[in-house]
Amino acid sequence: MTKPSINTIIEQQLCTGCGACVSESKSQTVKMELNKSGFLIPSLSENEQDSVNMLRVCPFNPNPEESVADEDKIAQNFLGKTKHFDTKIGYYNETYIGYSVNHRISSSSGGIATFIFEKLLREGYVDHLFVVRDVNGSYEYQLFSDLENITQISKTRYYPVTLENLFGQIDLIQGKVAISGVACFLKAVRLKQHYYPGLRDKIPFLVGIICGGTKSSFFTDYLAQRSGIKGKYRNQEYRIKDKNNLSSDYSFSAFDEDDNNHVMRMREVGDMWGTGLFKSNACDFCSDVLTEVADISLGDAWLDEYRQDGLGNSVVITRSTKADLLIKTGIESGELNLKIVPKEAIIKSQLPSFTHRQDAIKFRIWLSKINNNIVPHIRERVLQNISLPYKIVQLQRRRTRSKSLKIWEQNKDAEIFKQEMKSDLELLKNLTKIYHKFRKVFLSL
Ligand SMILES: Cc1cc2nc3c(=O)[nH]c(=O)nc-3n(C[C@H](O)[C@H](O)[C@H](O)COP(=O)(O)OP(=O)(O)OC[C@H]3O[C@@H](n4cnc5c(N)ncnc54)[C@H](O)[C@@H]3O)c2cc1C
Repeated sequence: MTKPSINTIIEQQLCTGCGACVSESKSQTVKMELNKSGFLIPSLSENEQDSVNMLRVCPFNPNPEESVADEDKIAQNFLGKTKHFDTKIGYYNETYIGYSVNHRISSSSGGIATFIFEKLLREGYVDHLFVVRDVNGSYEYQLFSDLENITQISKTRYYPVTLENLFGQIDLIQGKVAISGVACFLKAVRLKQHYYPGLRDKIPFLVGIICGGTKSSFFTDYLAQRSGIKGKYRNQEYRIKDKNNLSSDYSFSAFDEDDNNHVMRMREVGDMWGTGLFKSNACDFCSDVLTEVADISLGDAWLDEYRQDGLGNSVVITRSTKADLLIKTGIESGELNLKIVPKEAIIKSQLPSFTHRQDAIKFRIWLSKINNNIVPHIRERVLQNISLPYKIVQLQRRRTRSKSLKIWEQNKDAEIFKQEMKSDLELLKNLTKIYHKFRKVFLSL
């Protein structure tokens, strides 16, 4: 069997597009490009000399170096001594829920990411942020240090982005950089820091964006069409809040070529997350629900007691001493309306993600192996057996996910997509209902 390489990762759809590997290529010809399924992946020639070496910084490496083999080991290496460890939360100091008084209104959730980045810049702890923001009507990672316009970096964007340029330029950048990222992107940053220790000082702070899966560009194409746009779109907004409604009842909007703004309630398109529509295959092989290698982890407080608050609240996990200090100082000054919550509240807020991503990962690994595919290295401690009804749900979810990408690639038409996906989505819904009943009766959950 040939040694796995970045080529294997790409062929077996295990790339989420972080772009860290690009900077490991000595040929300097590798670039990140959108593939036919709407994901950013490295454009690699078949005989790319460095393809095997590039794998060492890939978060989906099947054979990683022992000392950085998984999120637990990486967290131990990078976070210093933390107060607690929990098998679901990872290494951490404190758990909070709430919002930033100044930034919540213009942010996706509680505005904590914008608050943290503002503080890091204002204190001079870092000189730049490397964050996702608007570029010519779409979204890309870029350097940012304009404190006066800090809200320009707010809001999460469910569009393919890549860290490619960071690692290409980091040696030329004067000063220190803080980065926002989803779990696999931050794992790649940590791997780069492991192999290039100078980057530990250069990148002293990581903000983790809790992620239920990265989406293909098809996701946005579909939402734009469903909102009524026939041709090209720009400046899409994914999380328009309504303070008079539930926090989960947010809207999508985008501009068409004639500058008309189209707005659509996300509930009109149904569940786009639990169904796995337009999701990357690689995300099914990530067990890091809560961005365990970040200094601070931020997500939505999807809990009944917070859902009524349409402006949104964030779940916050501080992992490094610096992160906890920033949060505690913010609470004392009145800039943050956050309270300490039991760790169970954080776990409950992301429960469906834990059930899918961690509980069922052993079954997905088994499926991969019987198809002779490589499997990214996954921590032993998350592997567990699941019931037959849940295995059947998993099979249907995987079918729905891959079919959604194929159907959109072939037709690029929202009406055809709805028709073609209808029976699979219906089946998935019914199988999930059966599984929930089974859980209630036999597992008392
Ligand atoms: C792909 C994706 C999936 C997500 N899934 C979940 C989920 O399952 N459960 C959950 O609780 N929360 C999820 N979130 C996170 C959630 O939507 C909130 O964005 C998060 O809680 C931060 O809210 P905030 O108000 O503090 O951020 P804001 O103050 O609005 O700031 C957002 C920050 O995120 C950065 N950013 C924007 N887009 C991206 C991106 N694509 N990748 C990296 N950084 C980005 C911005 O530059 C900014 O710094 C997801 C986010 C993304 C991008």
